[in-house]
Amino acid sequence: MYRYRLIAPATPLLLLLLGEPGLAQQTTYTRADTLRGSYATPGRAFWDVTFYDLKVRINPADSSIRGANTIAYRVIGPGSEMQVDLMTPLEVDSMVQRGTRLEYRRDGNAFFVKPAAVVQTGESGSLTVYYHGKPRAAARPPWEGGFTWGADSLHRDWVVTSDQGVGASIWWPNKDTQADEPDSMRVAITVPKPMIDVSNGRLRKTTENRDGTTTYEWFVTQPINNYAIAVNAGSYAHYSDTFQGEGGRLSLDFHPLSYHLDVARRQWAQVKPMLACFEHWFGPYPWYEDGYKLIETSHLGMEHQSAVAYGNGFQNGYRGRDLSSSGYGARWDFIIVHESAHEWWGNSITTRDIADMWVHEGFANYSEGLYTECLFGKEAGAAYTVGSRYNAEGIRPIVTSYGVNANPPIDQYYKAGNMLHLIRQIVNDDEKWRGILRGLNTTFRHQTVTGKQIEDYISTRSGTDLSKVFDQYLRTTEIPVLNIRIANDTLSYRWQSTVPGFAMPVRVTVGAGAWAVLKPSSRWQRMAVAIPADQFKVDPNWFVALLREP
Ligand SMILES: [Zn+2]
Repeated sequence: MYRYRLIAPATPLLLLLLGEPGLAQQTTYTRADTLRGSYATPGRAFWDVTFYDLKVRINPADSSIRGANTIAYRVIGPGSEMQVDLMTPLEVDSMVQRGTRLEYRRDGNAFFVKPAAVVQTGESGSLTVYYHGKPRAAARPPWEGGFTWGADSLHRDWVVTSDQGVGASIWWPNKDTQADEPDSMRVAITVPKPMIDVSNGRLRKTTENRDGTTTYEWFVTQPINNYAIAVNAGSYAHYSDTFQGEGGRLSLDFHPLSYHLDVARRQWAQVKPMLACFEHWFGPYPWYEDGYKLIETSHLGMEHQSAVAYGNGFQNGYRGRDLSSSGYGARWDFIIVHESAHEWWGNSITTRDIADMWVHEGFANYSEGLYTECLFGKEAGAAYTVGSRYNAEGIRPIVTSYGVNANPPIDQYYKAGNMLHLIRQIVNDDEKWRGILRGLNTTFRHQTVTGKQIEDYISTRSGTDLSKVFDQYLRTTEIPVLNIRIANDTLSYRWQSTVPGFAMPVRVTVGAGAWAVLKPSSRWQRMAVAIPADQFKVDPNWFVALLREP
């Protein structure tokens, strides 16, 4: 069978630079994988988090932390033992409910505790987990995250967290799954003076403590992913602005390191056109109540909700590089654009299981193309997206195993982004396509979803059953191969290497400068053409391979 592999000349280097989660193959799953990755375990399914009240003291002198998280929840079914996640080597000091210390047991990175009172479905409770220790340091932030204890170039302490993939329980106790978000959250971070902490949402209070520390109390009024909660503590400057958008007046707050204030003001001017573009395509920025912030970090960047982490060195491209090789990717700041796109795709619309992470990363990759289109026109946007597809590997399917916290491969970015670009070609109506993107953000706003819900919505709204297209691109490693033969002014064509029942239309040349949309299936079909075989082309916006039979 013909196997299509996409390997760009610079792939090994590029992958090294990208280093996104998912490069490690994982084929066997342990009990710990299931405890971490399933949202339906007995210890998780019966309670719904309504509020986290997180208080953490950060001590850069010995890289330790100490704190507590009060978990407020509503009982939604029968159950007896709650699972609370906190990774080694952090230690739980106690678990307290209504003033009573509870017994608990530890199973690796999961703790099991019986609530003090039997609570009925519909009732609420809260549990406070006190903990301390030296959290695991980030191995390779932001891809293998945790705490990064660092210093800026003036040797001042600079401490940041990043934990997507590895999990928020690497530094604070919580129900460590994307499936359950609190409806709101308080984050109170205490740091030694003169450090400033910038976390998520809005700053409610600053308290100067007698022991030479300051407590920064941040409040998020909307549902938030646990991995979006972040500590960003350092010697930050601050300036602010406003954006008049679809949801009214949006506050913009910028926190570069103090010596980067001038360069930040220049580079971060890209935030407003980015917001205007994304609101046009996706609808209102999802967090007007909590504002938009951009915060300099020592790692490359992360989509921390309402507090986007930025470490791209105040330069355009991805650390100065154009990931698409189209030329356009070097003309805007990759981290501002990609991470902010996640406010819609990932933060507002969150997948319950990371097996469906293409909904975050595929749409974020596709958003880069749309931003290019906003700046330089439709052809430029297409050139960017098509150019980025050569970063795809085609080794593992994009949708991985459910319930085991299995990171999808790098194709969740480029292949999924190109699949969305391809679906736009099938829809063939830009306003309708924009309506679908905006409709997704209205229908699933501030929700956790399955990938299937997103796929079904796009099929329904486009009026085309795209289920086979999704199956092909998300659940196999193959891209469709258009198999053709031209002889005696007759074109024979069929799909090859496709899932059963695959019948996606494709746009091809049928004469000099003449295009037509074919509807191939796995069976040979024929049509008259006025073109020699060597001039036959497939519209490059379709992410397919072409195989010419002699
Ligand atoms: Zn991303």
